[in-house]
Amino acid sequence: MSLDGHKYGARTAPANPLLVVMLLWYYSIAPFLGYIEVPGEFLDMAQSRVRQDRFEFSQHAQREAAAEQISVDDVKQALLTGQELEPYPHDARGPSCLMVGQDEHDRWLHVLCGNFDRGNVLIITVYYCLSATTTEVARSMDKEGEAMRSTRNVGSTDRSEVNETCYFCLRGILEEKRVTVDFRWGGKLMVIEHVPAKVCNECGERYYAASVVRQMEQMAKEGRKEKELTVPVATLVEVTI
Ligand SMILES: [Zn+2]
Repeated sequence: MSLDGHKYGARTAPANPLLVVMLLWYYSIAPFLGYIEVPGEFLDMAQSRVRQDRFEFSQHAQREAAAEQISVDDVKQALLTGQELEPYPHDARGPSCLMVGQDEHDRWLHVLCGNFDRGNVLIITVYYCLSATTTEVARSMDKEGEAMRSTRNVGSTDRSEVNETCYFCLRGILEEKRVTVDFRWGGKLMVIEHVPAKVCNECGERYYAASVVRQMEQMAKEGRKEKELTVPVATLVEVTI
């Protein structure tokens, strides 16, 4: 038996093919197919789209934001400077992610984003939180997100179809319409007519482009008006059954 260097080298154990396949799967194929989440991936996607104003608000998010005087640019700033808190890569409605970041006034915001597999990022809901590390607040928002999800009727999710389906009910088709919005900026109520929105023909959920929400904010801040409505106000008297 020869211990010649060349022959000895040739006897070196070959790479385990199973190990090679596993490494290839873990680092190349699985992340590509969405089986393994790549940290920061959602944030990168959200930031690149938000930077181009390619994001929209669900009716729920628009109302929550306006009621707390969180502007479109506050949300934009929070996402551009923020971080991923809880990714949901396998959500039945497509990947979504809870982000946290600071707005233009250094307040912490939690922003639940979705529609990463479509053109625009959808702001599903947005809230103030105490700090980036207040996970308790994040959890409570997560529950809200879960609660919103549980009310949805999970169906097929063919994202390649031509007509855009509703994120919430998954069945309805979104139609471009002009709608009337009861816009509340803080405690100030304003009715804005002729607002472009995508409206679900099943559940009625509305989706507003960020540029449209920004315009409504501006109108409310300026107190712009063309006419005034008189609205009856009454107090509900509790009825004993
Ligand atoms: Zn719907």
